[in-house]
Amino acid sequence: MAGPIITRELNDELSELKQNDLYRRLRNSDINSIETRIDGKKVTSFCSNDYLGLSNHPEIIDAAIESTRQFGTGSGASRLISGNHILYEELEKKLARFKSTKSSLIFSSGYLANIGVITTFAGRNDTIFCDKLSHASIVDGCILSRAQVVRFHHNDVSDLQNKIKKIKTSGKRIIITEGLFSMDGDIAPLSEISQISKDYDCLLIVDDAHGTGVLGENGKGSAELSNCESGINIQIGTLSKALGSLGGFVATSDTIKNYLINKSRPFIFTTALPPAVLAAAIKAIDLIENNRELRKSLIANWKHLRQGLSSSGFKVLSETGPIIPVLIGEPGKAVLFSQKLMDRGFYVPAIRPPAVEKGKSRLRLTVSANHGTEQIDSLMEAMSKTGKELGIIGK
Ligand SMILES: *Cc1c(COP(=O)(O)O)cnc(C)c1O
Repeated sequence: MAGPIITRELNDELSELKQNDLYRRLRNSDINSIETRIDGKKVTSFCSNDYLGLSNHPEIIDAAIESTRQFGTGSGASRLISGNHILYEELEKKLARFKSTKSSLIFSSGYLANIGVITTFAGRNDTIFCDKLSHASIVDGCILSRAQVVRFHHNDVSDLQNKIKKIKTSGKRIIITEGLFSMDGDIAPLSEISQISKDYDCLLIVDDAHGTGVLGENGKGSAELSNCESGINIQIGTLSKALGSLGGFVATSDTIKNYLINKSRPFIFTTALPPAVLAAAIKAIDLIENNRELRKSLIANWKHLRQGLSSSGFKVLSETGPIIPVLIGEPGKAVLFSQKLMDRGFYVPAIRPPAVEKGKSRLRLTVSANHGTEQIDSLMEAMSKTGKELGIIGK
């Protein structure tokens, strides 16, 4: 019987994580809003990716309830088996129009969209050039694809170009990057990357999970911001962040969509999303397209918070956008900082390896259109106090 031995080994490994301040545990929360409750304690949250506050928007809640009454809670089977729900068709049309692409295809999550796209287009003979800081779902897709994977320095266009020139491949060349990076909060130089992609005849995939609904004149994302929508072959996004729902999507051409429907295993072999989730996302896109005030408040909030933290002496790792990482360094200190903020009534998670590089543990603040100025000001005061206590900023 191997059971008990395995349990002992697993427990040893978990103890080691604890010793290194890398142990993770779930905290219970029973309210999904900015004023939330974590493990029973009331706190103001600065950690959600619900950037526009849409997961609590009354019109979106109504749309979800209405569609549940009409169509039920579950979808019964995969989209190819049980019939493609009409809400899918409506949402995919809307997403394509929103992203200025010919087509779009929904997956059950952003994670699955990355796995599904990368494993479909990259195979044994191909080479993927992937930004070093790309999200775990991109990394996992690369591994599963069995392609040769070359990681270029973060946002470093000349390193990318040198590697493309140097590395020989008999198959396709594929470039993958995030648009707005999830942990560093910075934005990829997409117009330069799309130029390189053209010059070297690569397929360019951009994961804009965080930029969608947030960046660009119309909230279409980092491609709109960088003015290079036509230079990207496949944009990946999620319905679960600014859109306040659940699901991933691919915005692309008709051919690539049809190819994915036929070949992508994470698309084919999983049950379709529930109607409520699709109805919510449809309503969310309507709101984003018709209500510019939402994004204006978000922008005002991220400017206010970023400016305040920098002038208190914190090292803020991104220049714009709703993701505001504050460098702390050692994981133990980051965890302690986060704990002290919790004691002061703010929920700001510490991000540690392996999510980020060693020595770069940080607090990751995210801001929403729904934060009030007083909430942001109180957070900054608590950050400042805690930063001084822990010697992160000067007295
Ligand atoms: C959150 C995220 C995903 C995964 O999206 P889900 O819909 O939450 O599965 C993929 N890529 C990036 C960059 C992300 O931040």
